[in-house]
Amino acid sequence: LIIYVPCDSSAIALGSNEVAAAIVHEAQARGIEIQLVRNGSRGMFWLEPLVEVGTDQGRIAYGPIEVEDVAGLFDAGFEKGAAHPLQLGLTEEISYLKKQERLTFMRVGITDPVSLDDYLAHEGYAGLKRAAAMSAQNIVQEVLDSGLRGRGGAAFPTGIKWKTVLNTEATDKYVVCNADEGDSGTFSDRMVMEDDPFMLIEGMTIAGLAVGAKQGYIYVRSEYPHAIAALNKAISSAYQHGYLGKDICGYGQTFELEVRKGAGSYVCGEETALLESLEGRRGIVRAKPPLPAIQGLFGQPTVINNVISLAAVPLILARGADFYKNVGMGRSRGTLPMQLAGNIKQGGLVEKAFGVTLRELLFDFGAGTASGRPIRAVQVGGPLGAYLPESKFDTPIDYEAFAAIGATVGHGGIVVFDDTVDMAKQARYAMEFCAVESCGKCTPCRIGSTRGVEAVDKIIANQDRPQQIHLLRDLCDVMVNGSLCAMGSMTPNPVLSALNYFPDDFNRKLNP
Ligand code: SF4
Repeated sequence: LIIYVPCDSSAIALGSNEVAAAIVHEAQARGIEIQLVRNGSRGMFWLEPLVEVGTDQGRIAYGPIEVEDVAGLFDAGFEKGAAHPLQLGLTEEISYLKKQERLTFMRVGITDPVSLDDYLAHEGYAGLKRAAAMSAQNIVQEVLDSGLRGRGGAAFPTGIKWKTVLNTEATDKYVVCNADEGDSGTFSDRMVMEDDPFMLIEGMTIAGLAVGAKQGYIYVRSEYPHAIAALNKAISSAYQHGYLGKDICGYGQTFELEVRKGAGSYVCGEETALLESLEGRRGIVRAKPPLPAIQGLFGQPTVINNVISLAAVPLILARGADFYKNVGMGRSRGTLPMQLAGNIKQGGLVEKAFGVTLRELLFDFGAGTASGRPIRAVQVGGPLGAYLPESKFDTPIDYEAFAAIGATVGHGGIVVFDDTVDMAKQARYAMEFCAVESCGKCTPCRIGSTRGVEAVDKIIANQDRPQQIHLLRDLCDVMVNGSLCAMGSMTPNPVLSALNYFPDDFNRKLNP
């Protein structure tokens, strides 16, 4: 009898450790022999802790489970898949999962994250084994042909970045994974690292072989202790079994990998600030050029990619570029693991091919707001993303379609607000966030954001409102055109979208 209880931190936060202990205790008390597997989360957070039971028909899900439910579940015979009010049927048949197109997340929630055997039994390391027999040029070409673009937000073609590093002569080269996932409402990087860490390790190893780098670093935010622990366990196992270190897969190539912990700065998610931090200095943005692909970590050519970009690579190598390229729309190829958060009834992870609309995500998957009130706005792409009103909900998730409406797909985070939201306060929050997190290197961002907060405060207080709105637009213009990095140049996205789509909130009469 196999019982699965997730060890993902979303499930742990909702009591999965206590539920797992109660299941073991109850089984022992009843003399029932069980095998407890701590799997990753299926990404349906409103059902966590989601307990699954292995049966001949497949896994049967029960959730959300509390410690108090455990005795009753055993009374009903749940360990054999019996009926119970909390039974949800076959996990794979739950429509939230069934409607997805999981490629990067194909193993997440199914396997034991730190079991190499489980990883190997589910197509793990098939990509590396193929890559190890290929030339570096051919690996890069495969990634180029797949159409994979950076999933961290910039959407730059991954293969072009790799080609630049491959073609730059140097004695040392590096692969750096940006796992400083700091956007509001995002958790797909965290889930990969906690729930399928070997996939990221495999993706980075393939990147190392592709560009000739012998050393890799995963820069993880300190707020992710479970991710760091899972990665370290998986890395140690990969070393023991010849998937890291010298003579990878018996092909004589070397790739070493280490985890490095960030210290809680949003701007360290910007690639050059991340490199500064990794080198032991304060996380301040570097001017580009030189590009990190030419002079990156310690001044050497460096591949720096987000977790999801690197995690997509093993499958591309295992199944071929065409397999991946044939999914998606326009120039947005493959899938994007999207994250539904904020005021949403069914928050969680939804991986779909590019082309799915916001409306499908919000209603078919998310089932509307948690509050039951109408959705008024959604912010896509983190704290620097635009606020979109209902009239934009039919926009497909596609980098170009979003750019055409002045928005960004970013890292695929979607934060939902109901009709009680005050968009002037959201605009203030965007400026305040920038003022707090600015690295301080350039004036439009450092000073502009502080002046922006003051302007929004005056607008809300109805002091010189028309002039302050004019000033706020002016500040946004300077920030867009004069900032060194996306922190300053994109903060105007939420501010201007709030002003343009929700002007009434900036012209409210004050409360008597
Ligand atoms: Fe630093 Fe802001 Fe300038 Fe970026 S835009 S370099 S975060 S001051």
